[in-house]
Amino acid sequence: MLSRRRPDVTVVGAGPIGLAVAWRCAIRGMQVTLYDPAPGSGAAYVAAGMLAPVTEAHFGERTLTALLVAAAARWPDFAAELADQTGRELGYRTEGTLFVALTSDDLAEAERLWTYQRDLGLPVTPLRPAELRAREPLLAPRLRGGALAPDDHQVDPRRLVAALRAAVEAAGVRMVTQPVAALAELPATGRVVVAAGCGTAALTGVPVRPVKGQILRLRAPGGAAPGFRHVIRGYADGRSVYLVPRTDGEVVVGATVEERGDLDVTAGAVLELLRAASDVLPELDEYALVEARAGLRPGTPDNAPLVGPLPGRPDVLVATGHYRNGIVLTPLTADLVADLLATGVADPLLAPLAPDRFDMTGSTCDPVGAGGGAEPESSRAGRKPWS
Ligand SMILES: Cc1cc2nc3c(=O)[nH]c(=O)nc-3n(C[C@H](O)[C@H](O)[C@H](O)COP(=O)(O)OP(=O)(O)OC[C@H]3O[C@@H](n4cnc5c(N)ncnc54)[C@H](O)[C@@H]3O)c2cc1C
Repeated sequence: MLSRRRPDVTVVGAGPIGLAVAWRCAIRGMQVTLYDPAPGSGAAYVAAGMLAPVTEAHFGERTLTALLVAAAARWPDFAAELADQTGRELGYRTEGTLFVALTSDDLAEAERLWTYQRDLGLPVTPLRPAELRAREPLLAPRLRGGALAPDDHQVDPRRLVAALRAAVEAAGVRMVTQPVAALAELPATGRVVVAAGCGTAALTGVPVRPVKGQILRLRAPGGAAPGFRHVIRGYADGRSVYLVPRTDGEVVVGATVEERGDLDVTAGAVLELLRAASDVLPELDEYALVEARAGLRPGTPDNAPLVGPLPGRPDVLVATGHYRNGIVLTPLTADLVADLLATGVADPLLAPLAPDRFDMTGSTCDPVGAGGGAEPESSRAGRKPWS
């Protein structure tokens, strides 16, 4: 039976970050209450679930890359513990990621990135077209080259959220299926962790903005598993695309990156994603298109998350802004927050993530479709490159 005593910790938001924070706090002996009107309905519901510290290592993001590498290293134990405690299958797969390039221009651009990633000491092995097709025979014959990133893995975010919900329930977390409109409205509590994705901006004023991603789900014919095993990422005539195969027959095709806060699915995005996917792996033309959705990544000015005390409010922590990497970062963020709450000592990894690294005056990040509010005028300007 649930205890009604005053919670030690109140968590706002039950996406993967809030759920994992609640779970890790509860198993450290804290009394936890978790608020969300629709658990798991945020960005995680559409996310591809790539655990990709290497293929997500971009120019100028060394601190973030180091964080992603540290987070990915926690995944084997985290996945095993979660699966063991809940008896649930997470769709955690470790076959690695192939990066492919369709044209010689695509290859030149990809090689610049691999050179940078290898200079950081990350494991990336260039492969010739024949070597690519030896690994994945269904890849398009006209690919110009590619590379293997063996340490970039995947998990199914919908299964992850379902398992985390089971874990928090088993750990005695009190779940309240209501939104929090303002922190002042929470019943008298101990400490508060705001992990409400894009909704965190309206509650705390931190500079988190919605970055829209449109994404598709295909299904292999006849209930079969997809005809490829690696996550495949690539450049196809200047477009960026990824294909994530699941054992149950699903293939996730993603995703746009748009400075917008609406959840509309557009014909142009679906067309471009399917064209790029088919250019890389023509067999996908025979798959059923079963879902087309948009989600809102919680983006920050430097693409790194915001984790730590809210300036001027030591009783309120935020854990948000995980942008394109919230699934891979889930185990790390959850443990950093739970350890800080349990011991009062901040892990050095938290230093570059402190919310006070940004000026918070006048930030406006309220996304359409995840808490109401108007889309900021400045975000309508146009679409960023595909990714
Ligand atoms: C198209 C797309 C593809 C992606 N692919 C990947 C990927 O391959 N790998 C990866 O690591 N990441 C990926 N991401 C990013 C990842 O989904 C996010 O970083 C992650 O979901 C962030 O988790 P979160 O718990 O902070 O937020 P969310 O998953 O958005 O969850 C926020 C939760 O807070 C709740 N909430 C909001 N406001 C309130 C409130 N006022 N009161 C109570 N509850 C509230 C919502 O209902 C929701 O359940 C992708 C995202 C998108 C959109």
